[in-house]
This record gives sequence, C-alpha cells and structure tokens, in this order.
Amino acid sequence: MAAGGPGPGGIALVGAAAGAPSCPHGPALLFVKTSRGKEEGRRFYACSACRDRKDCNFFQWEDEKVSEARLAAREEYNRNHQPTFTHRQNVERYKKFVLLPLSKRRFCQECQQLLLPSEWEKHSNHQFLCDISIAQLKSPSQFLYPLENKKTNAQYLFADRSCQFLLNLLTDLGFRRVLSVGTPRLHEMIQSKSSQEEDFGVRSLLLDIDFRYSQFYTEDEFCHYNMFNHHFFGGEAAHETCRKFLYEDNGERVIMVTDPPFGGLVEALASSFKKLMAMWKETGKEAFSLLGQGNKEMPVFWIFPYFFESRILDFFPSFSMMDYQVDYDNHALYKHGKTGRRQSPVRIFTNLTPSMIVLPVEEGYRFCTICQRYVSSGNQHCEICNSCTSKDGRRWKHCVLCKKCVKPSWCHCNNCNCCALPNHSCEKADSSCFVCGKAGHKRSACPSLSRTRTALQDDKKKGQKTLKKVKMGICRRSAMKHAIFSRKKVKNKKKET
Ligand code: SAH
Ligand code: ZN
Ligand code: ZN
Ligand code: ZN
Ligand code: ZN
Repeated sequence: MAAGGPGPGGIALVGAAAGAPSCPHGPALLFVKTSRGKEEGRRFYACSACRDRKDCNFFQWEDEKVSEARLAAREEYNRNHQPTFTHRQNVERYKKFVLLPLSKRRFCQECQQLLLPSEWEKHSNHQFLCDISIAQLKSPSQFLYPLENKKTNAQYLFADRSCQFLLNLLTDLGFRRVLSVGTPRLHEMIQSKSSQEEDFGVRSLLLDIDFRYSQFYTEDEFCHYNMFNHHFFGGEAAHETCRKFLYEDNGERVIMVTDPPFGGLVEALASSFKKLMAMWKETGKEAFSLLGQGNKEMPVFWIFPYFFESRILDFFPSFSMMDYQVDYDNHALYKHGKTGRRQSPVRIFTNLTPSMIVLPVEEGYRFCTICQRYVSSGNQHCEICNSCTSKDGRRWKHCVLCKKCVKPSWCHCNNCNCCALPNHSCEKADSSCFVCGKAGHKRSACPSLSRTRTALQDDKKKGQKTLKKVKMGICRRSAMKHAIFSRKKVKNKKKET
C-alpha cells in the first residue's frame, strides 16, 4: 500500500468504500493506520493493486478535503496512465501480426509488445525476440517475462505438471467453462488445447491485471481486471462479457479458478470473489430456483498458501483445503518435495465436496476413508483429533496440552501456553498477529510464517515494513505495473538471491 504516513505494523484494511477516489487501478481501498495500543486510527485511501508506493503513489486521508484543481489533475493523471494501446487496438494489431511472414514477427522484450514492421525503428535499441511462431503466440506466458521487480521475482506460473493436474481435475469433474482469475497459464493451456483437439470442449475467460495479455486474446477471452477491488478496466462492456460467460449453459458447468498474489489482503480478494460468485448466482437465479437449488454457490478453486486457511474459511465457511501441493515453474523453492527440495506451501481451497477432488496416487496422495478426502502421504490420521491434521505434508504430532496436532518441529512452551518453535522468543503481544490473526505473538514471530520466511530468504530488507518481507504477492503486484501502466523499460533483472 502506498502509505504516506503510516509506520510499521499498524495498517489494516477497512475495505472498499462507496465513493472512494480512484487511481489508475480503479477505486482505491480504505485502510486504517493504527498506532500501538490504540484501536481507532486515521483512515486513508491507497491503491488497491500496488503495495509499493513507487508503483502507485496514490494516497489520500479519508477526511482530507481535495480541491477541484487537484481532482482535475488526478483525472488527467489517471487518463495518462492507461496503457498505450486499448484492448481493441491490440486485437487489431494481433490480426495484422499473424498475417506477417515469420521473419517479420518480432516482439520487443523491453516494451513487452508485439511490433509491426513500421515500429521497428522506434525500438531499434531494444532487444527483440524474432521469428515468433503461431505456436509461441498461443503460449504467451512462455515468453512474456514473469513480472518482476527489485525485491524478488514476481509472477508465479504453474509448473506444467500442476497446470495439467488442475485441467484434468476440472474436466474430470465435468466443467466446461473456466473463469480464470489471475491464472494466465491455465487459461493458455485451455485455449491451446481447444484449438488443437476438436472434442476438447472447455473454454476459458481470463481476468487479470496484466494487460500484456490483451495482445494475444480477444475481448471475449480476456478482461483487464483488478481482483482487489473487482474493477473491470474495460467498463460495462467487459463486465457484460464476464456476466455472459458465467450465464451460458444456465450457469452450469462453470468453475472459477484463481491464484492471487499472497499479499495479505485476503478480505479484499474475498469481497471481489463474492461479487463474482454473486454475478453467477444472479444470472442463474431463475434456473436454480426452478431446480430448487437456490443456495447453490459457483464452484471455486482458490489457490493459496495453507497458512491462510483460517482467514479463507472466515470468509468462505463452505470451503475446505485440499492437500495437493501446487508447484510453480519460476520458483525453485516451491517445487514439489520428496527430493530434499522444499515443498510448496500452496494449496487448493474449494467449495466442492472434498471426496470429489481426486489427488494423484502416483505422487503419494492417498484416500482417507474416515476423512473422506485425499491426503498427502505423510499426513497421518490422528485418532485423538479424528482427522488427518497435517497442513504442510509432514507428519504432525498430537500435543495433549494444546489438544491438537502441531508441526513436528514444535514443542510445548509452558510460558506461552502453546506449542511453538523451540527457539521462539516468548513475547507477550498485546494485540493479535497481523498474519494469522491469533493472539499471543506478533507478526514477526508468527509460527505460520516461519517456514515461508526462510524459504523466501531472497528478501534482504528484513525487519522493515508491514508484511513486505514475507510475501511474494507484493512483488508480483508491484512488478506487474511495469507491464501495464508504464511505458518504461521492463528490465530483465536477475534474482537477487
Ligand atoms: N499460477 C498462475 C499465475 C499466478 S501469479 C498461472 O500460472 O497461471 C498471479 C497472477 O495474478 C498474475 O497473472 C498476475 O498478473 C495476477 N494479478 C496480480 N495482481 C492482480 C490484481 N490486482 N488483479 C488481477 N490480477 C492480478
Ligand atoms: Zn483422516
Ligand atoms: Zn502444545
Ligand atoms: Zn514461548
Ligand atoms: Zn500469527
């Protein structure tokens, strides 16, 4: 968040507010600055999409009086910070592009843009990718830079295996349409499969803030969308595209799959997803009431780290977490375990019946007949909890004092009255933890983050601002700005680790 005033630790999301001012990323979100020990702090608006003020420095106190002149300047600024080409223009450009002979199909790596021959000169000192084949055009996520910025690498693309798994799972469950929210690689896999295999009847609509994708997809395949404030950049027309997509086939056989940045704004994401789910419900209302399915929810896969489980369940009590570990391509630390490498903390949260989610036995998952769901091989059924309790794939142990299963590395601390890492510092926290919401420790000591923190050692600025150090989501988000709203160079920076 582009906070001008607030200091470390004390920022919380209030939410979307009616009449909120807008930045180039749509309506800003309302946050509150809390000072230590004080509940009510000063409220301010900041960009919903960018946590780094370098990417979007929008800031306004809620009670601030904004002059007419400043409002006008802001509108002007927002207009000037829209992408160079509109989606329509990009679609027209694509049509011209595919007609060019192979030798004339170039992509500017600096501007992350397909070039028409007349534009080569303007980019003469930029690096090009040449001879872009039709096959390449169908897999843009393979040659677009995963968005990155100075802190860590950014966009987290599914490893092929995980993407295949998701797609097979969806089709086996009978889904025919996928609302891909922040899942460009899944979208791309669906698109290219359906263009190759005649009887593959699955379609996808991609909603993403990464506007580079508008160069490769029509308005029926991609909407420029901000999932933190449910903002369709393409206005009512784009909104309608999404509505129509959900409404087809009476709203049946459609599922939403989303893999958002993990920046901590779970409530903002949840509120947007609820709006998308409501959109589906609205469109299918008549059909559902005829079928007596008035309470039905749109099926969802929300892909997110396991340590957000309680936050997600707070907003979506009908969801449950699957044991499947989602792997990523461009994050060495998040690849599948077993070979001594770290295991991915990322899971699938869904409102579908857990027993329907069949996990691959060849990867060690097994079905627990008591829990009626597939679990990791290391996840033992605990007789006392009467559940397969492991969250991270390792075998957990039951603590009789805590009356629950805990991570194998934890010990019961009589001081804190709970289990924790042996080397934890027994801090008496006066408020609840910013990350997991539990009392008894501060964000810096949150046990749910201990593994991720070490996993993501790439951040050197430990001990600095709120959340910044922990989550890659921030970096994804600020980095993607480069691709969307600035004409500046996108540098291919190496990872800093
Ligand atoms: N694993 C996915 C990509 C996840 S990375 C895949 O391989 O398909 C997170 C995605 O969310 C990126 O595509 C990024 O562009 C998108 N994103 C980030 N912030 C967003 C926002 N505010 N609104 C919509 N999409 C966003
Ligand atoms: Zn079990
Ligand atoms: Zn204990
Ligand atoms: Zn302690
Ligand atoms: Zn915590």
